[in-house]
Amino acid sequence: MIKAEYIWIDGTEPTPLLRSKTKVVETVEDLPIWGFDGSSTNQAKGEASDCVLRPVCTVPDPVRGGDAVLVMAEVLLTDMTPHPTNTRAALAAAVEEFAAQEPWFGIEQEYTMFKGSRPLGFPEHTGYPAAQGPYYCGVGSDDIYGRPIVEAHLDVCLKAGIELSGINAEVMPGQWEFQVGPLGPLEVSDKLWLARWLLHRVGEDFGVSITLDPKPVRGDWNGAGAHTNFSTKEMRESYDAVIAAAEALGKNADHHVANYGAGIEHRLTGEHETAPYHEYSYGVSNRGASVRIPWQVAQDGKGYLEDRRPNANCDPYTVTRLIVETCCPALATLA
Ligand code: ADP
Ligand code: MN
Ligand code: MN
Ligand code: MN
Repeated sequence: MIKAEYIWIDGTEPTPLLRSKTKVVETVEDLPIWGFDGSSTNQAKGEASDCVLRPVCTVPDPVRGGDAVLVMAEVLLTDMTPHPTNTRAALAAAVEEFAAQEPWFGIEQEYTMFKGSRPLGFPEHTGYPAAQGPYYCGVGSDDIYGRPIVEAHLDVCLKAGIELSGINAEVMPGQWEFQVGPLGPLEVSDKLWLARWLLHRVGEDFGVSITLDPKPVRGDWNGAGAHTNFSTKEMRESYDAVIAAAEALGKNADHHVANYGAGIEHRLTGEHETAPYHEYSYGVSNRGASVRIPWQVAQDGKGYLEDRRPNANCDPYTVTRLIVETCCPALATLA
């Protein structure tokens, strides 16, 4: 018998949580539709509590090992239509419409590790560590906190076949990042949710909790984002297309920011390597802009752009859908 961990996104507001439970199955071919009690996840009323889980992405379960699998599932109503909290369904529709443009995404997931009520590296009861400066990509016990957890997470993601492209320590102590992609919009989003689940799960083994809070410590401490790197086939061949995408994002900026994660106004202040949430800007190499065009892209005259606005707690199904829906029609009129 094989353990299949069905993972789904709940209805907690304003930021949903991951949930999961185990189904013991005889085979992982054609994993069945399953269900759960939506009245316990803010997804249904008690008198009509059943919600449906439909598998969308299955990978080896590196924590349990053996034949076990992790199953990312989407939530449906009992009539098999998407549940209102199912943001993947809308992305799937956008992907179909713009598939010919071959959109790719690479997402940089930042997160913060907490022990009790304080980030790793913060003094246990009161006060603050030394100011930011040495922590980003640092080495040594004065500056680095939680590396064994980060390494364990990298290992399980790679074992699961999740396409991590790198990891790094971030600007605030206890804050780290991993990158997923580049992959298509559905793939990058499914894999990012699975990688998030694995991060929380690995944290359990170390007695450390993970938060995707975009501003876990107020004041002069960096927030946590999910920089979203984007290209289409045309952008990978032409700099004009990269600029056209950056311009298109500027025409729909408020709508994007409003859907890039709860509490974004606390993070996009204009300080700590962000642009203010109410102003749109783009520029080459500029980490104070909403959208950055990497210098290498400007030099090569082709490539991708980085939307720096999404919060760490964003929903990648929604972020990638908005970018596709805003940029792809604009790019289609270029040629
Ligand atoms: P930063 O300098 O912003 O910290 P990172 O190295 O953390 O950059 O992340 C860069 C991301 O861009 C990676 O996830 C990578 O997969 C992604 N990426 C690279 N090329 C492309 C591309 N052509 N389209 C979309 N994403 C890309
Ligand atoms: Mn990065
Ligand atoms: Mn970063
Ligand atoms: Mn970045």
